[in-house]
Amino acid sequence: MNLFEKEALAKLKAEQLEQASAEEVLQYAVETFPKITLACSFGAEDVVLVDMLQKISPKTDIFYLDTDFHFKETYETRDRLADRYGLKFVRAAPELTPEEQAEKFGPELWKSNANECCNIRKVGPLTTILTKYDAWITGIRRDQAPTRANAKKVEYDAKFGLMKFNPLASWTNEDVWAYIRTNDVIYNPLHDRNYPSIGCEYCTRQVMPGEDPRAGRWSGQEKTECGLHK
Ligand code: SF4
Repeated sequence: MNLFEKEALAKLKAEQLEQASAEEVLQYAVETFPKITLACSFGAEDVVLVDMLQKISPKTDIFYLDTDFHFKETYETRDRLADRYGLKFVRAAPELTPEEQAEKFGPELWKSNANECCNIRKVGPLTTILTKYDAWITGIRRDQAPTRANAKKVEYDAKFGLMKFNPLASWTNEDVWAYIRTNDVIYNPLHDRNYPSIGCEYCTRQVMPGEDPRAGRWSGQEKTECGLHK
């Protein structure tokens, strides 16, 4: 399939699957693209997808971007999920250790140049790992941020050159938490401490009442996304 055919297929399936449930989108994705993977940040949306995937296609690879800068609660959530489902998450790691990064770019690159830091610790490892697959699954939702408002349930991801599935694109935050409660899904306890969106420890703060749920990410900077999603 050439680029135009992939884009046309994504557009057609996005229309056909717009009213489909998240499980139906996942089912279509894993059946149509055997070389598929789920990107997991261990946030609320992603643990929903981990749970669904264990019921639909438990052998599907699930990876996480280990920036080395996650909260300890995030690593603990990874381990608790792995224990419950008996799965091993694939670790996608940066080429530079934190020490090598500090030596090359100076200390606290996340303060001096957050885009460069995200490129090294997230975008680079994501680019590498996605070359092994024909499609990836993410937990992005349209109402998370204006940058995500046009997300389709099926897209052709031109940035990384593969199909992209967003089964929760039409879900609300309430839908996510209803699924977690109903299915007793393990989740990051930081969500109960005013961290609606959780990234690296250096770039995530608690959100105050009335603030946007993503206000705690790169607070004080113009940056709102890591560069993983267009
Ligand atoms: S979120 Fe912050 S610490 Fe993490 S990779 Fe991006 S800039 Fe670096």
